[in-house]
Amino acid sequence: MSNDIKTQVVVLGAGPGGYSAAYRAADLGLDVVLVEKRATLGGVCLNVGCIPSKALLHVAKVIDDAKDMASHGVTFGAPKIDLDKIRSWKDSVVAQLTNGLDGMSKMRKVKVVNGFGKFTGSNTLVVNGADGDTTITFDNAIIAAGSEPVNLPFIPEDDRVIDSTGALELKDIPGEMLVLGGGIIGLEMGTVYAALGSKVSVVEFLDQLVPAADKDLVQVYSKYNKDRFNIMLSTKVVAVEAKKDGLYVTFEGKKAPAEPVRYDKILVAVGRKPNGNLMDATKAGVTVDERGFINVDNQLRTNVNHIFAIGDVVGQPMLAHKAVHEAHVAAEVISGQKHFFEPQAIPSIAYTDPEMAWVGITEKEAKEQGLKVESAKFPWAASGRAIASARTEGFTKLIFDKETHRILGGAIVGINAGEMLGEIGLAIEMGADAEDIALTIHAHPTLNESIGLAAEMYEGSITDLP
Ligand code: FAD
Repeated sequence: MSNDIKTQVVVLGAGPGGYSAAYRAADLGLDVVLVEKRATLGGVCLNVGCIPSKALLHVAKVIDDAKDMASHGVTFGAPKIDLDKIRSWKDSVVAQLTNGLDGMSKMRKVKVVNGFGKFTGSNTLVVNGADGDTTITFDNAIIAAGSEPVNLPFIPEDDRVIDSTGALELKDIPGEMLVLGGGIIGLEMGTVYAALGSKVSVVEFLDQLVPAADKDLVQVYSKYNKDRFNIMLSTKVVAVEAKKDGLYVTFEGKKAPAEPVRYDKILVAVGRKPNGNLMDATKAGVTVDERGFINVDNQLRTNVNHIFAIGDVVGQPMLAHKAVHEAHVAAEVISGQKHFFEPQAIPSIAYTDPEMAWVGITEKEAKEQGLKVESAKFPWAASGRAIASARTEGFTKLIFDKETHRILGGAIVGINAGEMLGEIGLAIEMGADAEDIALTIHAHPTLNESIGLAAEMYEGSITDLP
């Protein structure tokens, strides 16, 4: 069966980028078709990324918090883990959000076509779905095809080797688990499995976990987690042998054990690769680089005037909120508005325990770019709220332009760091200087107060910290 559809805008991929672009375009009065190969909308983020991982991290947090309470007078029994129920809780969270997108698509009259889409020309796309092929003729296209996990070729195919999607399935709780890759996704999933009872090791090729973050932030995280994870930095996996009784891993590098080590499961979390090469974009004249990224300008336009690309497929940082903002710009440009994607700051958050969060420039980047910056760091050991919460390991750091004292970046490590980061992002976008932040009255006692206090430290009005 063949169907033909004509539309002003076709959006390929219904992740945070794709559905946000489709909805904004529809809200601006355009006729929109949204193509998605998955059975549900929401892309990686809602189905197998941001959302299910946070549902499981919530479970992990409650378990860990309950354990911590013993030191201040409340002891709970050992947690009884019902994996089926935890899985259903996670699935129900995902379903609530993906079903919500179905409703939002209907409300906006966005036509959803289910199936795998491939370009056949500069204004045509064919979607291969359960009911056969649908040919879509479009005036404009937005490619929002996202990314997928990177595999390592030397690791054998085995049920016990999983990626982030496999880890979120939560089939069992392995006794010994190796997380290969010390980035955000690996550490978040490691946090979940450690709370559920796995003994988790993390191996990272570089000399720092979460390499994009400043070292001081990561040091706090690593110190807090020294008993929770066996962290092997500057070390790499060179071979994995699948045997009946487990996966035997050979390491090389600074912390490499002398003999192969047995694990019940390996989570490979070494990064994600863009899906730019999978939909015959070149047949529409769109240039895709050898890694699968699609180059765009600051209006998200590809080298073909009426074809745009957004989200993970256009490059780093591969984050849902970046995709959403790019989506809005692309849809607005198609509708005739003169908008640009030129953010001052894109927040990054590791929802680990403690959380690590940063926005704007890091000290590492400032150094690389030769910028003259100064920073102020407020230690949470001096925060009443952190002390009352028995979580004083964190700090709040603000980075200022040395001459203008304008804020250029900020980083927080500690509980709820991710929730606190928004204020710093806003300050950067608004061009606030240290005085603006210091003179803003922050409520006491909050962790947020530490942002105001860091600015006061920079201004020199606080000098007597412990
Ligand atoms: P995607 O979400 O990847 O969506 C692309 C969609 O396109 C997919 O549904 C795919 O099926 C579809 N598609 C691709 N090609 C075709 C085709 N040819 N035809 C039809 N459909 C197609 N980001 C955050 O900001 N915060 C987080 O906390 C966070 N946590 C994460 C946790 C994990 C475990 C993972 C894996 C990722 C996480 N991310 C997080 C990253 C985030 O999920 C991505 O940055 C985001 O989903 C990118 O959105 P996107 O719209 O570009 O692409």
